[in-house]
Amino acid sequence: MNWREILYKSGAKKRNPSLYKHFNDLLSTDFSHRKELDMLQLERLQRFLIFAYNNSPWNAERMKRAGFNPSEDFSIEKFKKINPIGKEDLVQYNEKIQVGEEFFDKVFYCESSGTSGKVLTFKRDENWDSFNRAAQMRGYSWFGVNPWDFNIYFWGYNSNWKKKLKLRVLDFFVNRNRMFDYSETSLKSLRKKLKNAVFIEGYSSMIYEMAKLGLDQSHSLPNLKMIKGTSEKIFPHYQEVVKKAFGRKIISEYGAAEAGIIAFECPEGNMHITEEGVYVEQDENGEILVTNMLSYSFPIIRYRLGDSIKLADENFKCACGRSHRIIAEVTGRVGKIIVGFNKQYPSLTLYYIFKNIYFEKGLAIDYQATQNEKGKLIIRFLEKLDSKKEDLILEQAKIYFKDDIKIEFEQVASFRMEKGKLRDFISYIS
Ligand SMILES: [Zn+2]
Repeated sequence: MNWREILYKSGAKKRNPSLYKHFNDLLSTDFSHRKELDMLQLERLQRFLIFAYNNSPWNAERMKRAGFNPSEDFSIEKFKKINPIGKEDLVQYNEKIQVGEEFFDKVFYCESSGTSGKVLTFKRDENWDSFNRAAQMRGYSWFGVNPWDFNIYFWGYNSNWKKKLKLRVLDFFVNRNRMFDYSETSLKSLRKKLKNAVFIEGYSSMIYEMAKLGLDQSHSLPNLKMIKGTSEKIFPHYQEVVKKAFGRKIISEYGAAEAGIIAFECPEGNMHITEEGVYVEQDENGEILVTNMLSYSFPIIRYRLGDSIKLADENFKCACGRSHRIIAEVTGRVGKIIVGFNKQYPSLTLYYIFKNIYFEKGLAIDYQATQNEKGKLIIRFLEKLDSKKEDLILEQAKIYFKDDIKIEFEQVASFRMEKGKLRDFISYIS
């Protein structure tokens, strides 16, 4: 054991006493057969629902309304009668969802802000928190990565020095080098750090931006085992650039603070659902519903995360040997709408327009679209577009929008208006 490992483990022991128990459990079911996983899920789901029924008043009401008592006659069919909920419900009925602290040795206070602007606060019990960390650690282990290995975190911008200092201290314990800014000096030091980095993580748009700067040649990153993108859609052309610069593609971790680690990409490139912890369903519109079976202190049941997904065929067998179900693609956020003169279009349409251009013409274009008024869309670019490219975009857009939307182009210095997530579509129409 090196001192990094000792430091990490002693910190974990204090903060998350059940971390290694969960980690070992997860390793023991890593290659479980489909039937075993099904049984394990049913058992955990029932146990969790009974607890929620008895201790979370609002969730008890939901189950009663559906005529479902999980301790009397439990079945998946009955469970599916519970009406799905969204983030606004978790905010509105927050107090009635919470379970009394007397059940838990320890709770952590959590915050989750969504694109809708609502901030959700809740308590996460130690068991839940540790499971989450363990699920992430299992994913890391697939790449031979330890959480205490030297790593670089591409973060958003933050100018608040107090917050920076606090993060630096926290980062020290997990051997993390966080990039706060992208000045000449920071980039110079990054070049040195990259040589030692075992893994890189962050918003995929940030990793992509760094890769575009042509920071390093792949052969000079001998220690790098994993590049992990979180929270954002990973566009195909990101992968191409990142692979060239860092020698590896970005793998995805899919999850949310309240929903847990939902899936983690394996070395074969498939996102396996953490079925030991979450029960995932897909509604008739292709939207994901998550039940977080560890969320005892704040039960999350049949929760609309707001993403549409594509599940892999049930008979598909991943070459890695794992039987955990696979999310083939997180296709995008639900509910963002581009408003035409006569019709409305999902914001995902933009993604398809530029995806087509990339695959058909081999042109990778970074874009961001904004809408202020009905029937008009402003598409912004970092580069100056020639008329050929403009025509190509207009041509593709016409396939989807016909003449219902007028498109204007604008060149900007940066897409980032605030820290955090990069958005490909921003609407100011309520
Ligand atoms: Zn796999």
